[in-house]
Amino acid sequence: MSSVLIRGGRVIDPASRIDGAFDVLAVDGKIERVAPAGKAAAPEHAAVVDARRCWVVPGLIDVHVHLRDPGFPQKETIQTGLRAAAAGGFTTVAAMANTQPVNDTPEISHYMLERARGAHTTRLIPVSAVTKALQGRASVDYRAMAAAGARLFSDDGMPVDDEALLARAMREIAGLGFVISLHEEDRGLSCNGAANAGDVAKHLGVTGYPNAAEAMRIRRDLALALEQKTPVHIAHVSTRESLELIRDARTRGAQVTCEVTPHHFAMDHRAVLRHGPNAKMNPPLRAEGDVETLHAAIADGTIDMIASDHAPHDPASKHLDELGGFFSPGEDAPRLPAHAAETFADCANGVIGLETSLGLAMDLVHRELIGASRLVEMMSLNPARLLRLDAGSLEAGRPADISIIDPNLDWTVEPERFRSKSRNTPFVGMRLQGKAILTIVNGEIVYDGRKGND
Ligand SMILES: [Zn+2]
Repeated sequence: MSSVLIRGGRVIDPASRIDGAFDVLAVDGKIERVAPAGKAAAPEHAAVVDARRCWVVPGLIDVHVHLRDPGFPQKETIQTGLRAAAAGGFTTVAAMANTQPVNDTPEISHYMLERARGAHTTRLIPVSAVTKALQGRASVDYRAMAAAGARLFSDDGMPVDDEALLARAMREIAGLGFVISLHEEDRGLSCNGAANAGDVAKHLGVTGYPNAAEAMRIRRDLALALEQKTPVHIAHVSTRESLELIRDARTRGAQVTCEVTPHHFAMDHRAVLRHGPNAKMNPPLRAEGDVETLHAAIADGTIDMIASDHAPHDPASKHLDELGGFFSPGEDAPRLPAHAAETFADCANGVIGLETSLGLAMDLVHRELIGASRLVEMMSLNPARLLRLDAGSLEAGRPADISIIDPNLDWTVEPERFRSKSRNTPFVGMRLQGKAILTIVNGEIVYDGRKGND
C-alpha cells in the first residue's frame, strides 16, 4: 500500500467548496481524507510533501491536445507528450483524433492507451473521430469507440460540413452519454486564411481569416443542438460574435460548453508580426477587441474551461528555414515578398501549450480577473465534467490525481527545456509567475519539479 501526505498547502477544491489550509492524504491511489492543516497523521512509509505556500488542487485536465502518435514521431510521441503534460501540472489529457491513421477505430484507441500505460505518467483519454479519416463523409462507430475508451468525439482540425451527418452524430453521441467537441470553421469563409482578417494579414500580404468563418458555424451548430436538445462543446472560441451566440443559445436552453486557449487570451494578432509561423494557428490570433471580450467571458463565466490545443510541429512543417529570417521576437516583420506570403499560408497551424498553459492562466489570477477557485474550475472541474470523468475533485474516495502549484514561482519560457519534442511557441522568453511543482496521478508522483529535481 502506498500513501502520500501533502501537508499544509492551500487546498482549492471548488467541487467541495474548500479553499484553505488543509492536509491531503492519499492512500493506494485514492483520496483518503482532507483534514485541517496539521491534523492528518502520516501513515508508516508515507511520502510526506511539504506544500506550505503552494496550492494543492485536483489534477489539471486538458480536453484538447494533439500528441501526433501514431503518425508523426518527429513532432511528438505519446510518451513525450504525456511527460510534457505532467510537467505542466496535468493529470489527464484528451488526445485528438487527427493522427495518422486517424483514431476512428478501436484498434487505434487501444494503441494509444497501451502507449500511455507504458509511459506511467499522465492519463490519456483517446478522442474519437466523428467521421472516418476526418473526411466528413462516413460516420464512425461511436458505440465501439466509447467501448474502446473514447469520452469525447471530435474531428478537430477539420469542421464537419455535412449538417445531416452532424445532427445524427450529435444524437448518437448524446445517446451514449458523451459530448461532441466542434472545430467551428466555415471553410468557404476562412479560405485557408493565414492570419486574422485585418491589419496584420494586410501587412503580411496573406489571406485574412474573418470572425464570421467561426461565428457562422457556431450559429448553425447551436441551432442543431437546440432543436435536438443535445449537448455540444465548442472548441477554441476566439471571437466576440462566438461568445454572443453562446450566451444567447444558453438563454434559450442550449446545453453548450466552450473552451478558450491560452494563446487566444494571452496574445492578439500583432504577435504574428513578431513570431510568424510560431504564432500561426487555426482559428488565428484575433484583434485586440476580441481578446478583451475573451477576458470578460472568462471573468463572467461564459467560458467554461481553458484547453491548450497543444499542437507540436517540427521546424520543417513551419517552414522555418525559409521564413524564420523574416520574423524576430524583437520587432515587427516587414511586408513579405509574394513567395514568402505563399509559404506562410502553407505553414502548419498550431503552437505547443502543455508546459505554458498553467503559467499563462495564472496571469489571469495575478491580474485579479478571476480567483484561484475559478481557475481550478476551468482547468480541472469543468473539463472533468465534459469528459464525464470521476475526477476534478479531492473528495474522499476519488482517484488521487493532484496538482501542486507554486503560485509565485517566477520562471522564463525556455522551449529548449521542455519535455515536448517540439519548440513551436510564441511565448519564448516570456516571464511567467506560477508553475506546477508536483504532479500526482493515481497516488504516484509522476512529475517532481521541486528544487534540484527538475
Ligand atoms: Zn481545432
